[in-house]
This record gives sequence, C-alpha cells and structure tokens, in this order.
Amino acid sequence: MGVLTADEQLRARLEFASRLGALGADARDLAELFRALYAETARVMDTTVFLLAVYDEASETVQVVRQMDRGVEHEGGSFPLGKGFTSEVIRTGAPRLIRRWSAEGPPVRLLYGTEAGELVTPQSGVVVPILSGDRVLGVLSAQSYRAEAYEDADVLSLSAIAAQAGGNIKRLRATEQMALEHERHALQLEAVLASMNDALLIVDARGAIVRLNRAARELLCLDSASLVFGQPLEPQRLEQWPATAREIAAALVPVIDALRSGTSVAEFEIELRSGKRRVLSLAASALRPPRGALQGGVIVLRDITGQRDLERLREDIFAMAWHDLQTPITVIKGHAEILRSQLSSGGGDPKAAKEAASTIVKRADALAALALTLFDVSCLEAGLLSIAPWPTDLGAVARDVAEGIRSTAGHDIEVFADENVVGEWDDRRVRQVLVNLLSNALKYSPEGSTVSLSVAAVEGSATVSVRDDGIGLDGTELAQLFRRGYRAESAKHTPGQGLGLYLAHGIVAAHGGRMWAESPGHGRGSTFCFALPLGREHADPPVEHRA
Ligand code: ADP
Repeated sequence: MGVLTADEQLRARLEFASRLGALGADARDLAELFRALYAETARVMDTTVFLLAVYDEASETVQVVRQMDRGVEHEGGSFPLGKGFTSEVIRTGAPRLIRRWSAEGPPVRLLYGTEAGELVTPQSGVVVPILSGDRVLGVLSAQSYRAEAYEDADVLSLSAIAAQAGGNIKRLRATEQMALEHERHALQLEAVLASMNDALLIVDARGAIVRLNRAARELLCLDSASLVFGQPLEPQRLEQWPATAREIAAALVPVIDALRSGTSVAEFEIELRSGKRRVLSLAASALRPPRGALQGGVIVLRDITGQRDLERLREDIFAMAWHDLQTPITVIKGHAEILRSQLSSGGGDPKAAKEAASTIVKRADALAALALTLFDVSCLEAGLLSIAPWPTDLGAVARDVAEGIRSTAGHDIEVFADENVVGEWDDRRVRQVLVNLLSNALKYSPEGSTVSLSVAAVEGSATVSVRDDGIGLDGTELAQLFRRGYRAESAKHTPGQGLGLYLAHGIVAAHGGRMWAESPGHGRGSTFCFALPLGREHADPPVEHRA
C-alpha cells in the first residue's frame, strides 16, 4: 500500500468503520463469512495468506474453515490445539503480531497450503482472537511471505474485523443450534406419533390431511395409494376407500369443517357398523399459534370398543344380578321371618321350622354360587380369571363332584372314569366346570332319566363328556351356546342366567383346552364335552400309575 496523507488515512478509517457494521451480516454459513472477512481484510492489509479458524472447546480442536493463499481459496481442516501462533492466540485470547516469523516463532508448515511438496513458510503475520466475552470462538490470521509486512495498526484493524466476525459466528451457531433443535423436536415427535396407539391425523388450514400416524393408517385400513396427502376429503375420492374408512371419514367431515373455521371439537363417540362393531372416540384441536394465522388442526381417534363393552357387561351383569338376587333374598327373608316369629312365640311346628331353615340354607347357597359366578364372569371378561394348575386326578374329581350332586338329584348319575387321568389343572376351576355341566344336564332333562359322566385319556388330552336324555338342542342353538348370556328358547321356562357355559368355556380355554356340545336335536338329549391337555408325562409312555 502506498503512503497516505493524514486526511486520506482518516477517511479510510471512517469508511472501514462504517463497512464493519454490515460485515458478514448476509453470510449463511462459515464459508460465506470467511469470504466476506477476507474481502474486507484484503482492503486494509496484506492477505497473501488468510485464514479463519473456529475453536471447539470440548474437543480442544481448531477447525480451519477456509484458507486463502495467493488469491486461491483452499479447503480447511482440523488440528488439535498445538504450539503454533494460532494455538497460542486461542490459549491466551490476546492478539499476536509476528514481524519476523523465522526469528520469533517455531517454523511453520502451512498445513492447508498449496502446491504439493512445496514447503512455504510465511515471514510475518498477525493473528487475532475472535472473542465472545472471555471465550475464544476462533482466530483470524493474515500472513505474508514478506518479513515485516504488518504493524500495530494492522493488529487493531484485524481485531476490529474479528470483533465483527464474533457476532456473526454466534449468530450462525445459534441458527445451526436452532436447526438441530428443530430436527430433534421433529424426530421426537415422529417417534411419539409412531408409538401412539391412538390414531392421529393432522389437517392443514384448508382441511386437507397432511399427516397420519401408523395407528390412523391401520384404523382407516388405508394403503399409501388410497390417500393423497394435501387434498381435501371429497366424496368422489372417498368412494375408493374401504367401507370402515368411509364411515370414519363421514364423521371426520364436520370435524374438519370445524377445524377450518378455527374451532376445536370436544370428545364425542361414533359407532362403526360396517364390518366388526367398533366404538371410536373422536376429538380435535385447532392449531392456532398465539400470533398468526390458523394452521389447521389435529384429530385424535381412539378405539374404545373394549372399554364400552366392559361397561355394558357390568351394566348387564348388574341388571341380571339385580333380578336374580331379588327372588332368593325375598324367599330367605320370608322364611327367616317365619322362624323368628316361631322362636319368639315359643310354639309352632318343628317340622315347618326345619323346612324353613333348610330353604334358607339352600337359597343362601344358591345366592353365594350366583355371586361367585358373577364375579368370575367379570374376571373372565377383564382377562383376569385366575388358574392355579396343580397335579389333579380328573377321574377322582369327577366321581367326587357326581357324588355331591347325586344326593340331591332325582336322576340316575353314572360315572365312567379311566384310572389316573392326571394333569396339571386347577382342581377348583375344573370342579366348577363339572358342576355346571352336570347341573345343566339335570336341569334340562326329566327327573328319573339317566345322566352319564365319562372321563377318558385320548391322544394327549383328557376328555370329559356329560350326556343327558333331555330337551336337546338344534344346530342354531349349538352354535351359540357359549356366548355370554345365551339361553335357548326351549330353556326359557327353567331358571338360569346363561352365564354358566360361558364361564365353563372360559375356564377350559384358560387351561389350553376346548369345549363343545353335540345333540341330535330337540327332545333327543345332548352331550357336553371338554378336553384338557395332558402333561408331557402322559404323552411319553410308559406311564407310571399311582394308586
Ligand atoms: P343357564 O343354564 O343358567 O341358562 P348356561 O350357560 O349353563 O346357563 O347354559 C346356557 C344355555 O344352554 C341354557 O340356557 C340352555 O339353553 C342351554 N343348555 C345348557 N345345558 C343344556 C343341556 N344339558 N341340554 C339342553 N340345553 C342346555
């Protein structure tokens, strides 16, 4: 640079100062910032070699963003904090003027330098820190192949440029940070949406679906071909959707209309009737930033069929229990009243008193059994039916249950049981099943007829069958027998709740077994059977029979 007059110097400084304010403001990344800094530095000093480096405190690494060497821009690179002038300035945070490099500092190899093989060494340089408060964000360095190319004024100028660079680096880092944050949030949101069991749809301000999560795709049974994102739900497009999806879409249309007008929709329920009955709860929130235009909305659909069914079951059970508990309670109360008046008057017929007492006991037992059945059925429905398997001799249990029932039955009960049909079953639960089948056989067949109970081990299963000569069942009835609350028309004049077989079937299934019924038709008797899996010891002969 030529020698300037004092006026020229002042003007140059003022111009420099006014340019500094805007320096690097447009830079979108560090490389662009480097170019802006180079252009400005080149105006005021020798920039034969010029570099911008940023410093990463965590890894103590210096990253050279770019390097200029004799007008050619080179890629940067990284190196650990070392002993050179750049590292020294980073460590001390103070600028460094190197008038004669060979005399003052360690020999320098321009790491990012030029032609291969040529070891070029600058002869002078100025290195200034880029600061943010006390922290060193990086350095700016201008170097020359001439000795004494720089003086104190250059240190000041480069420091002024570096101060400007500091603000820019902070701004760029903040934007980068924000972009990372943004990306992180997006990833988190993506993971939440994918793992949600609730179906979620996002619509834009025009009401077009712009996003669906996995659950929504499954609920709507949509493949990617059926839904074109970003297009409003129009009737002609919906025609290609599966029936269930069309039903849901019909419910969505008014919700989307509400969202388009910026109104959220409180939770409400819809019942799907095409295909399997399903109950869905639907709610929607409009997306409106605190300041700014409506962005559309989020719709959440939840399958609450199970919940509603359970509630309905509880109501059914309650209604059923209310009805079936009333009668025995009235009978018990009536007979207890008779007993009480007899006891207080001291007189009365002892035989009648005894009958009243046994009626009370019988009805109380029936009440207890009904209460237990109701409890077990609600456990079964909730998937909480407990099974405690234990080595159990099925023949012995069958004989025992038949014995207990025989004493009060007006029927002939025969038992045919193989010896040692032993497996890991819940004794109490198996008894429940046997009691249900035997008492049904007695209930639905005429007094004096024969009921046969057989137990046999057949091909890895223990099979039990209960045969009666009673009212029998037709094909339609046989198909529905194990449904909760089912009672055949022909059984309606016999008291019952239609819960016993449902529970028995559930107990057998919980043991890994199966239950079925056979009948040649009305009035021709029926056979109820169940099979329980035998343990491995039964599958592998020889079997050691225990006495
Ligand atoms: P409940 O006997 O209390 O009605 P269950 O669940 O035990 O309830 O039986 C359901 C229905 O199955 C009965 O109402 C009856 O219609 C039919 N059923 C059960 N056992 C027999 C049987 N041995 N013979 C004919 N029908 C039967």
